[in-house]
Amino acid sequence: MKAIIKTDEKPGSFAVREVPVPKPNPGEVLVQIKATGLCYTDMSILEGTYKGRKPVPIPMIMGHEAAGLIAEVGGQVDTLEVGQRVGFEALGGCGKCYNCRTGNKNMCTDWNHIGITYDGTFAEYMVISADLVHALPDNVQFADAALLEPLSLVVRSIEHVQPGIGESAVIVGPGTVGLLHLQALAAAGASRLIVVGLDVDKIRFGIAEKLGATDIVNASTQDPVEAVRDITAGRGADIVIETASSPRVWDFLLDMAAARGRISCFGLYPESNFKPLVLIRSGVTLYGDVAFLQRHFIRSIQWLASGKVSGQALVTKRFTLEQAPEAFEAFKHKETVKCLFEP
Ligand SMILES: [Zn+2]
Ligand SMILES: [Zn+2]
Repeated sequence: MKAIIKTDEKPGSFAVREVPVPKPNPGEVLVQIKATGLCYTDMSILEGTYKGRKPVPIPMIMGHEAAGLIAEVGGQVDTLEVGQRVGFEALGGCGKCYNCRTGNKNMCTDWNHIGITYDGTFAEYMVISADLVHALPDNVQFADAALLEPLSLVVRSIEHVQPGIGESAVIVGPGTVGLLHLQALAAAGASRLIVVGLDVDKIRFGIAEKLGATDIVNASTQDPVEAVRDITAGRGADIVIETASSPRVWDFLLDMAAARGRISCFGLYPESNFKPLVLIRSGVTLYGDVAFLQRHFIRSIQWLASGKVSGQALVTKRFTLEQAPEAFEAFKHKETVKCLFEP
Protein backbone atom coordinates (compact mmCIF):
# COMPACT_ATOMS: atom_id res chain seq x y z
CA MET A 1 0.00 0.00 0.00
CA LYS A 2 1.01 3.64 -0.45
CA ALA A 3 1.78 5.79 2.61
CA ILE A 4 3.16 9.27 3.39
CA ILE A 5 6.08 8.72 5.75
CA LYS A 6 8.06 11.14 7.90
CA THR A 7 11.40 9.60 6.97
CA ASP A 8 13.98 11.32 9.19
CA GLU A 9 14.50 14.19 11.65
CA LYS A 10 15.34 16.75 8.93
CA PRO A 11 12.74 19.61 8.79
CA GLY A 12 10.34 19.03 5.88
CA SER A 13 11.64 15.54 5.02
CA PHE A 14 9.06 12.95 3.92
CA ALA A 15 8.45 10.35 1.21
CA VAL A 16 5.47 8.62 -0.42
CA ARG A 17 6.40 4.93 -0.32
CA GLU A 18 5.05 1.42 -0.91
CA VAL A 19 4.88 -0.43 2.45
CA PRO A 20 3.23 -3.72 3.51
CA VAL A 21 -0.44 -3.63 4.60
CA PRO A 22 -0.34 -4.04 8.44
CA LYS A 23 -2.06 -7.01 10.16
CA PRO A 24 -4.51 -6.45 13.05
CA ASN A 25 -3.62 -8.14 16.36
CA PRO A 26 -6.34 -9.44 18.69
CA GLY A 27 -8.45 -6.47 19.81
CA GLU A 28 -7.56 -4.46 16.69
CA VAL A 29 -9.09 -3.81 13.27
CA LEU A 30 -7.68 -2.96 9.85
CA VAL A 31 -9.34 0.15 8.38
CA GLN A 32 -9.27 1.05 4.69
CA ILE A 33 -8.85 4.85 4.75
CA LYS A 34 -11.36 6.68 2.52
CA ALA A 35 -10.69 10.30 3.58
CA THR A 36 -8.02 11.80 5.84
CA GLY A 37 -7.43 15.44 6.76
CA LEU A 38 -4.16 17.35 7.02
CA CYS A 39 -3.80 19.58 10.09
CA TYR A 40 -1.41 21.89 11.90
CA THR A 41 -0.09 19.04 14.09
CA ASP A 42 0.90 17.02 10.99
CA MET A 43 2.71 20.06 9.60
CA SER A 44 4.61 20.58 12.86
CA ILE A 45 5.67 16.90 12.79
CA LEU A 46 6.77 17.37 9.17
CA GLU A 47 8.82 20.43 10.10
CA GLY A 48 10.22 18.83 13.27
CA THR A 49 8.75 21.52 15.57
CA TYR A 50 6.15 19.28 17.29
CA LYS A 51 6.58 19.23 21.08
CA GLY A 52 4.58 16.33 22.50
CA ARG A 53 4.66 14.23 25.66
CA LYS A 54 6.69 11.57 23.84
CA PRO A 55 9.18 11.78 20.97
CA VAL A 56 7.73 11.02 17.50
CA PRO A 57 8.99 7.54 16.45
CA ILE A 58 10.56 8.35 13.08
CA PRO A 59 10.17 6.80 10.48
CA MET A 60 6.38 6.94 10.94
CA ILE A 61 3.29 7.12 8.70
CA MET A 62 1.79 10.60 9.31
CA GLY A 63 -1.85 11.67 9.79
CA HIS A 64 -4.52 11.28 12.48
CA GLU A 65 -7.88 12.63 11.19
CA ALA A 66 -9.70 10.03 9.08
CA ALA A 67 -12.66 7.79 8.30
CA GLY A 68 -12.96 4.58 6.34
CA LEU A 69 -14.20 1.01 6.03
CA ILE A 70 -13.41 -1.99 8.22
CA ALA A 71 -11.27 -4.25 5.99
CA GLU A 72 -10.30 -6.95 8.52
CA VAL A 73 -11.17 -7.75 12.13
CA GLY A 74 -8.59 -9.11 14.59
CA GLY A 75 -9.38 -11.82 17.15
CA GLN A 76 -11.58 -10.99 20.17
CA VAL A 77 -13.36 -8.15 18.31
CA ASP A 78 -17.13 -8.73 18.37
CA THR A 79 -18.34 -5.11 18.09
CA LEU A 80 -17.33 -4.40 14.48
CA GLU A 81 -17.57 -6.22 11.15
CA VAL A 82 -15.90 -6.12 7.75
CA GLY A 83 -17.44 -3.51 5.44
CA GLN A 84 -18.72 -1.26 8.23
CA ARG A 85 -18.22 2.51 7.72
CA VAL A 86 -16.33 3.97 10.66
CA GLY A 87 -14.65 6.98 12.24
CA PHE A 88 -12.08 6.62 14.99
CA GLU A 89 -10.60 8.47 17.94
CA ALA A 90 -6.94 9.34 17.57
CA LEU A 91 -5.95 9.08 21.22
CA GLY A 92 -5.72 6.09 23.54
CA GLY A 93 -4.82 6.26 27.22
CA CYS A 94 -2.79 3.62 29.08
CA GLY A 95 -5.89 2.80 31.16
CA LYS A 96 -3.72 2.41 34.27
CA CYS A 97 -2.54 5.86 35.36
CA TYR A 98 -4.41 8.18 37.74
CA ASN A 99 -5.65 10.45 34.92
CA CYS A 100 -7.00 7.54 32.85
CA ARG A 101 -8.70 6.01 35.87
CA THR A 102 -10.38 9.30 36.77
CA GLY A 103 -11.88 9.72 33.29
CA ASN A 104 -9.25 12.01 31.77
CA LYS A 105 -7.46 9.80 29.25
CA ASN A 106 -6.47 12.93 27.31
CA MET A 107 -4.21 13.80 30.27
CA CYS A 108 -2.64 10.32 30.28
CA THR A 109 1.05 10.49 31.05
CA ASP A 110 1.70 7.50 28.76
CA TRP A 111 -0.74 8.21 25.93
CA ASN A 112 -0.74 6.81 22.42
CA HIS A 113 -1.92 8.87 19.46
CA ILE A 114 -2.28 7.85 15.81
CA GLY A 115 0.19 9.66 13.58
CA ILE A 116 2.11 11.02 16.60
CA THR A 117 3.25 7.98 18.62
CA TYR A 118 2.50 5.26 16.03
CA ASP A 119 1.66 4.83 12.32
CA GLY A 120 -1.17 7.08 11.17
CA THR A 121 -3.82 7.65 8.53
CA PHE A 122 -1.94 9.00 5.47
CA ALA A 123 -2.02 5.51 3.98
CA GLU A 124 -4.38 3.15 2.19
CA TYR A 125 -4.82 1.08 5.36
CA MET A 126 -4.12 1.39 9.07
CA VAL A 127 -4.48 -0.77 12.17
CA ILE A 128 -6.19 0.57 15.28
CA SER A 129 -7.54 -0.69 18.60
CA ALA A 130 -11.24 -1.61 18.17
CA ASP A 131 -12.29 0.33 21.28
CA LEU A 132 -11.38 3.62 19.55
CA VAL A 133 -13.53 2.83 16.49
CA HIS A 134 -17.14 4.02 16.08
CA ALA A 135 -19.70 3.07 13.41
CA LEU A 136 -20.97 5.96 11.27
CA PRO A 137 -24.65 6.58 10.54
CA ASP A 138 -25.51 6.06 6.82
CA ASN A 139 -26.03 9.78 6.18
CA VAL A 140 -22.56 10.81 7.40
CA GLN A 141 -20.16 10.97 4.46
CA PHE A 142 -16.47 10.04 4.74
CA ALA A 143 -15.36 13.59 3.86
CA ASP A 144 -17.36 14.95 6.81
CA ALA A 145 -16.34 12.12 9.15
CA ALA A 146 -12.67 12.85 8.38
CA LEU A 147 -13.21 16.02 10.45
CA LEU A 148 -14.49 14.18 13.54
CA GLU A 149 -11.20 14.79 15.35
CA PRO A 150 -11.26 18.62 15.09
CA LEU A 151 -15.05 18.56 15.64
CA SER A 152 -14.50 16.70 18.90
CA LEU A 153 -12.03 19.38 20.02
CA VAL A 154 -14.78 21.93 19.41
CA VAL A 155 -17.39 19.92 21.34
CA ARG A 156 -14.93 19.81 24.26
CA SER A 157 -14.18 23.55 24.02
CA ILE A 158 -17.91 24.46 23.91
CA GLU A 159 -18.41 22.31 27.02
CA HIS A 160 -15.78 24.50 28.73
CA VAL A 161 -16.95 27.99 27.69
CA GLN A 162 -20.71 27.23 27.96
CA PRO A 163 -22.09 29.84 25.55
CA GLY A 164 -25.34 31.50 26.58
CA ILE A 165 -28.08 32.70 24.19
CA GLY A 166 -27.40 36.29 23.11
CA GLU A 167 -23.73 36.34 24.14
CA SER A 168 -21.05 37.71 21.84
CA ALA A 169 -18.10 35.67 20.63
CA VAL A 170 -14.87 36.33 18.82
CA ILE A 171 -12.89 33.68 16.97
CA VAL A 172 -9.24 34.52 16.45
CA GLY A 173 -7.94 32.44 13.54
CA PRO A 174 -10.37 31.29 10.80
CA GLY A 175 -8.84 27.84 10.22
CA THR A 176 -10.62 24.49 10.65
CA VAL A 177 -11.01 24.67 14.44
CA GLY A 178 -12.06 28.33 14.24
CA LEU A 179 -14.70 27.76 11.56
CA LEU A 180 -16.12 24.70 13.34
CA HIS A 181 -16.43 26.84 16.49
CA LEU A 182 -18.24 29.41 14.37
CA GLN A 183 -20.88 26.82 13.43
CA ALA A 184 -21.22 25.66 17.05
CA LEU A 185 -21.55 29.20 18.45
CA ALA A 186 -24.08 30.17 15.77
CA ALA A 187 -26.14 27.11 16.77
CA ALA A 188 -25.76 28.09 20.44
CA GLY A 189 -27.46 31.46 19.81
CA ALA A 190 -24.51 33.88 19.88
CA SER A 191 -25.63 37.43 19.00
CA ARG A 192 -22.36 38.58 17.45
CA LEU A 193 -19.88 36.23 15.84
CA ILE A 194 -16.70 38.12 15.09
CA VAL A 195 -13.94 36.43 13.09
CA VAL A 196 -10.43 37.87 13.34
CA GLY A 197 -7.77 36.98 10.77
CA LEU A 198 -5.11 38.48 8.52
CA ASP A 199 -4.75 39.50 4.85
CA VAL A 200 -3.76 35.91 3.99
CA ASP A 201 -7.12 34.65 5.30
CA LYS A 202 -9.22 36.12 2.43
CA ILE A 203 -10.62 32.70 1.31
CA ARG A 204 -11.35 31.83 4.93
CA PHE A 205 -13.18 35.12 5.56
CA GLY A 206 -15.50 34.26 2.65
CA ILE A 207 -16.31 30.85 4.13
CA ALA A 208 -16.79 32.42 7.61
CA GLU A 209 -19.40 34.81 6.20
CA LYS A 210 -21.30 31.91 4.59
CA LEU A 211 -21.25 30.02 7.90
CA GLY A 212 -22.75 32.84 9.97
CA ALA A 213 -20.01 35.32 10.93
CA THR A 214 -21.64 38.70 11.65
CA ASP A 215 -18.37 40.66 11.57
CA ILE A 216 -14.96 40.14 9.94
CA VAL A 217 -11.91 41.88 11.41
CA ASN A 218 -8.72 41.95 9.35
CA ALA A 219 -5.94 42.42 11.91
CA SER A 220 -3.49 43.26 9.09
CA THR A 221 -5.28 46.57 8.60
CA GLN A 222 -7.38 47.08 11.78
CA ASP A 223 -6.61 47.17 15.49
CA PRO A 224 -8.39 43.94 16.52
CA VAL A 225 -9.08 45.06 20.12
CA GLU A 226 -10.59 48.38 19.01
CA ALA A 227 -12.68 46.60 16.38
CA VAL A 228 -14.04 44.02 18.85
CA ARG A 229 -14.79 46.70 21.45
CA ASP A 230 -16.62 48.80 18.80
CA ILE A 231 -18.79 45.86 17.76
CA THR A 232 -19.64 44.94 21.38
CA ALA A 233 -20.56 48.45 22.62
CA GLY A 234 -17.22 48.76 24.40
CA ARG A 235 -17.70 45.63 26.54
CA GLY A 236 -15.52 43.09 24.74
CA ALA A 237 -16.62 39.57 23.79
CA ASP A 238 -18.15 37.13 26.30
CA ILE A 239 -16.38 34.24 24.59
CA VAL A 240 -12.99 34.29 22.88
CA ILE A 241 -11.76 31.30 20.88
CA GLU A 242 -8.01 31.43 20.25
CA THR A 243 -7.00 29.25 17.29
CA ALA A 244 -4.43 31.48 15.59
CA SER A 245 -1.07 30.07 14.67
CA SER A 246 0.99 32.86 16.23
CA PRO A 247 1.97 33.63 19.85
CA ARG A 248 1.51 37.35 19.03
CA VAL A 249 -2.24 36.92 19.67
CA TRP A 250 -1.42 37.04 23.38
CA ASP A 251 -0.47 40.71 22.97
CA PHE A 252 -4.19 41.47 22.59
CA LEU A 253 -6.24 38.35 23.43
CA LEU A 254 -7.14 39.24 27.03
CA ASP A 255 -8.03 42.82 26.05
CA MET A 256 -10.74 41.48 23.71
CA ALA A 257 -12.61 39.64 26.44
CA ALA A 258 -15.54 41.13 28.37
CA ALA A 259 -15.53 41.18 32.18
CA ARG A 260 -16.09 37.55 33.28
CA GLY A 261 -15.29 36.45 29.72
CA ARG A 262 -14.20 32.89 28.89
CA ILE A 263 -11.27 32.16 26.61
CA SER A 264 -10.64 28.75 25.04
CA CYS A 265 -7.01 28.32 23.98
CA PHE A 266 -5.70 26.13 21.15
CA GLY A 267 -2.34 27.65 20.16
CA LEU A 268 0.62 25.53 21.28
CA TYR A 269 3.19 28.23 22.02
CA PRO A 270 6.05 27.60 24.41
CA GLU A 271 6.25 31.34 25.18
CA SER A 272 4.04 34.39 24.80
CA ASN A 273 3.34 37.85 26.19
CA PHE A 274 0.72 36.84 28.77
CA LYS A 275 -0.81 39.62 30.93
CA PRO A 276 -1.90 38.31 34.34
CA LEU A 277 -3.01 41.79 35.48
CA VAL A 278 -5.71 41.96 32.76
CA LEU A 279 -6.78 38.39 33.53
CA ILE A 280 -7.27 39.15 37.23
CA ARG A 281 -8.87 42.61 36.89
CA SER A 282 -11.50 41.47 34.39
CA GLY A 283 -12.15 38.10 36.03
CA VAL A 284 -11.50 36.21 32.80
CA THR A 285 -11.34 32.40 32.79
CA LEU A 286 -8.85 30.68 30.49
CA TYR A 287 -9.47 27.11 29.36
CA GLY A 288 -6.61 24.93 28.19
CA ASP A 289 -7.02 21.29 27.25
CA VAL A 290 -5.70 18.73 24.82
CA ALA A 291 -7.38 16.23 22.47
CA PHE A 292 -10.77 15.03 23.78
CA LEU A 293 -12.69 12.28 25.54
CA GLN A 294 -14.91 9.55 24.11
CA ARG A 295 -18.13 11.45 24.87
CA HIS A 296 -16.93 14.37 22.73
CA PHE A 297 -16.32 12.05 19.78
CA ILE A 298 -19.71 10.33 20.10
CA ARG A 299 -21.49 13.70 20.29
CA SER A 300 -19.56 14.87 17.22
CA ILE A 301 -20.90 11.91 15.23
CA GLN A 302 -24.43 12.78 16.38
CA TRP A 303 -23.88 16.44 15.51
CA LEU A 304 -22.72 15.52 11.97
CA ALA A 305 -25.64 13.13 11.53
CA SER A 306 -28.05 15.96 12.48
CA GLY A 307 -26.86 17.93 9.44
CA LYS A 308 -26.45 21.02 11.66
CA VAL A 309 -22.69 21.21 11.10
CA SER A 310 -20.70 20.72 7.92
CA GLY A 311 -17.17 19.44 7.77
CA GLN A 312 -17.12 19.50 3.97
CA ALA A 313 -17.89 23.25 3.96
CA LEU A 314 -14.25 23.63 5.05
CA VAL A 315 -12.76 21.16 2.58
CA THR A 316 -11.21 23.38 -0.06
CA LYS A 317 -8.79 20.93 -1.68
CA ARG A 318 -8.59 17.16 -2.24
CA PHE A 319 -5.44 15.22 -3.05
CA THR A 320 -4.20 11.68 -3.65
CA LEU A 321 -1.38 10.40 -1.40
CA GLU A 322 1.09 10.86 -4.29
CA GLN A 323 0.20 14.56 -4.33
CA ALA A 324 1.57 15.07 -0.78
CA PRO A 325 4.12 17.71 -1.93
CA GLU A 326 1.32 19.86 -3.44
CA ALA A 327 -0.89 19.38 -0.36
CA PHE A 328 1.88 20.42 2.07
CA GLU A 329 2.67 23.51 -0.06
CA ALA A 330 -1.02 24.51 -0.26
CA PHE A 331 -1.31 24.21 3.54
CA LYS A 332 1.82 26.30 4.14
CA HIS A 333 0.56 29.10 1.90
CA LYS A 334 -2.92 29.07 3.47
CA GLU A 335 -4.53 28.27 0.09
CA THR A 336 -6.78 25.85 1.91
CA VAL A 337 -8.87 25.55 5.05
CA LYS A 338 -8.95 21.76 5.20
CA CYS A 339 -6.99 19.58 2.75
CA LEU A 340 -8.22 16.01 2.38
CA PHE A 341 -6.27 13.06 1.09
CA GLU A 342 -8.50 10.46 -0.54
CA PRO A 343 -6.28 7.35 -0.79
ZN1 LIG B 1 -5.54 17.37 13.85
ZN1 LIG C 1 -3.04 6.69 31.39
